[in-house]
Amino acid sequence: SKEAGRNCYSFFEPKMNANAHAQLQLQQELLGALDRNEFLLHYQPKVVAPAGPMIGVEALLRWNSPQRGMVAPDAFLPLAERTGLIVAIGNWVINEACRQLKLWHGQGHDSWSIAVNLSTVQLGHPGLVDTVRDALQRHDLAPACLVLEVTESTAMRDAETSLIILDQLTSLGVSISIDDFGTGYSSLLYLKRLPANELKIDRGFVTELAQGNDDAAIVSAIIALGKTLGLKIVAEGVETAEQQALLTRLGCNTLQGYYLGRPVAAEKLLASLDSVQEI
Ligand code: C2E
Ligand code: CA
Ligand code: CA
Ligand code: CA
Repeated sequence: SKEAGRNCYSFFEPKMNANAHAQLQLQQELLGALDRNEFLLHYQPKVVAPAGPMIGVEALLRWNSPQRGMVAPDAFLPLAERTGLIVAIGNWVINEACRQLKLWHGQGHDSWSIAVNLSTVQLGHPGLVDTVRDALQRHDLAPACLVLEVTESTAMRDAETSLIILDQLTSLGVSISIDDFGTGYSSLLYLKRLPANELKIDRGFVTELAQGNDDAAIVSAIIALGKTLGLKIVAEGVETAEQQALLTRLGCNTLQGYYLGRPVAAEKLLASLDSVQEI
């Protein structure tokens, strides 16, 4: 074909279906993305219910690809996980988040915390605890202002190993948040053993939330469970005033979602806080 010889893998082409080819192309671009400095973080406010003040942000990874434009994590994280690239990318995320938080602290927002997402491969990688410790030291940050978000299903996969790693992270003084709660299958006994500080109700429950339906009952039950375990309750995906009011009434401590603030680049965060009170 005309394309033959342009790419090192082109001799596989006849056997390869279009999807596999697209994945290889993506992988090749992703491989150099870190060195080319193409990753950045967007930050979404986490606010005290119902409307502020803002207590911190969640860092959300973006890939600014010259070929593809701004790429959302769902489009490349699965591949980054499969190839192990997520470890290097994730280490960059942890350091960049700490660097940015230190800047904000220096600008007077010294009570803000920052949340970073950890995937299954990262949690299973032996270097994680050192990476987190080093990043906190390098940026001279109090460990308590770093929140590590781990999904319920990530924490459940290889549950005993996860417990050991999460205990080590907790020993550093960082906070652990159980993300996408309600979508996994954790037993209550396992939940009780998890060294978590916070539980995030999955957006799926929040989206359907309206007075009187099943989701309101489920959210109430999750909140009651979380409070019994001594956890702070965060709702994610809050998009309407109605959801904001209902979640507050049901007892959520912290809200996050487009209604309170969209994920934005660091330099746009302060301007985006018009609707929420700022510390
Ligand atoms: P997540 O941790 O559950 O993050 C919340 C996702 O919901 C984000 O999507 C956020 O932009 C979006 N969101 C926030 N508020 C609303 C809302 O009101 N409505 C709707 N419809 N969506 C809302 P995003 O940024 O595309 O991230 C998707 C997932 O990618 C994240 O889900 C997280 O699992 C993963 N992720 C993001 N950044 C990182 C990272 O640095 N490392 C790792 N390992 N995973 C990451
Ligand atoms: Ca998250
Ligand atoms: Ca989530
Ligand atoms: Ca999610």
